[in-house]
Amino acid sequence: MKRVSIFGATGSIGQNTIDLIRRAPDEYQVVALSGGANIKQLAQDAIELGAEVAVTCYDARLDELRNALAGSGVDAQAGSSAIKEAAARPADWIMSAIVGVAGLVPSLEAVKQGATLALANKESLVAAGPLLMRLARENNATILPVDSEHSAVFQALIGEDMSAVERVIITASGGAFRDWPIDKIRTATVADASSHPNWDMGQRITIDSASMFNKSLELIEAKEFFGVFPSQIETLVHPESMIHALVGFNDGALMAHVGPPDMRHAIGFALHWPERRKLPVERLDLAKIGSFTFRAPDEALYPALRLAREVMELGGLSGAVFNGAKERALDHFIAGRIGFLDMAQVVEQVLSQMDADNRLRNADITLDTVQAADHMARQIADIKSKAVAA
Ligand code: NAD
Ligand code: MG
Repeated sequence: MKRVSIFGATGSIGQNTIDLIRRAPDEYQVVALSGGANIKQLAQDAIELGAEVAVTCYDARLDELRNALAGSGVDAQAGSSAIKEAAARPADWIMSAIVGVAGLVPSLEAVKQGATLALANKESLVAAGPLLMRLARENNATILPVDSEHSAVFQALIGEDMSAVERVIITASGGAFRDWPIDKIRTATVADASSHPNWDMGQRITIDSASMFNKSLELIEAKEFFGVFPSQIETLVHPESMIHALVGFNDGALMAHVGPPDMRHAIGFALHWPERRKLPVERLDLAKIGSFTFRAPDEALYPALRLAREVMELGGLSGAVFNGAKERALDHFIAGRIGFLDMAQVVEQVLSQMDADNRLRNADITLDTVQAADHMARQIADIKSKAVAA
């Protein structure tokens, strides 16, 4: 039996992971599940899967979780230290699918115990890539990417030598506003940005897809995970979201990964790796689809992509600052305090203020320095957001 834990179990990735585990209950022993405000879902899944412990990130919801789990034998816990402790419980496979930098601690705990980390939380690599990768090496942990693009690159690289890789092409659907003129994008509402043309995902990553901040996080994620140079990473707009990424080799060949936009592929690949097993995803009929289209991304329309290039060149703590500022700007956009295009402006201002004297690029990357940089980036983002809104 494979011992598995899922952090962010009540979210979009978490629920897709549970969907796969539920299909083969005899193969898995569920150790820990974590969630947030959806106590009902968390308790229901923990009882059905026979988890050892269920954790909500909200301290104030502990009693509610206890009541929901009463008599089930599942231990109820709450708060961020309980999440950390749950991620340190021995497990073979740990899904890190909390949204935001809050997912970093369980990712680090997973690699520290030498488990296989299925990494959906891209913020872990953006904010603390060198730290996470070093701890994984030191503890013989395996990290498997659970972002469709990075799983695609990983699969295209099987059996290949990294020295033969010329480029990594990350595709982008273009998000909700890919066909909108800039003046209309300027006045886009939260509701406009919260529906994705191809993927069904959590609200925050869906809005990040519309602004291309999601793609910008993914470029940084690719640099940190695959260890390629920023100049080797390209973005390609592919509105159909069927080709998830391509790898270009030194003989001119491009290896593409093609599949339906269904996260259960990347999750299932990571769950069964190194084997490939049958998955309940749609089989594509390419003759019916007929054609795929591509275009170059417009960096003027998507400043997030230009900022990602800066962050990849800077390295150090710039990823933590970029992500922290982005998370706060997104909070302010969701709350209706700043406009859609203001988010990138806020992030850019935070980055340039915090990188004065090259402070970010020369910094050590530890959990403490990452959390301090994240904290400061959020405070400055609050100030810049107020100024932008005024
Ligand atoms: P979601 O919003 O649907 O779910 C987020 C989960 O995290 C929920 O269980 C929620 O309760 C929990 N959570 C939220 N804030 C928390 C906090 N402060 N502390 C602890 N737990 C908290 O998000 P999602 O779409 O499933 O995305 C999860 C992660 O996977 C993100 O990092 C996202 O970028 C990445 N990802 C998602 C998709 C997708 O298809 N949804 C694809 C690729 C990568
Ligand atoms: Mg992705």
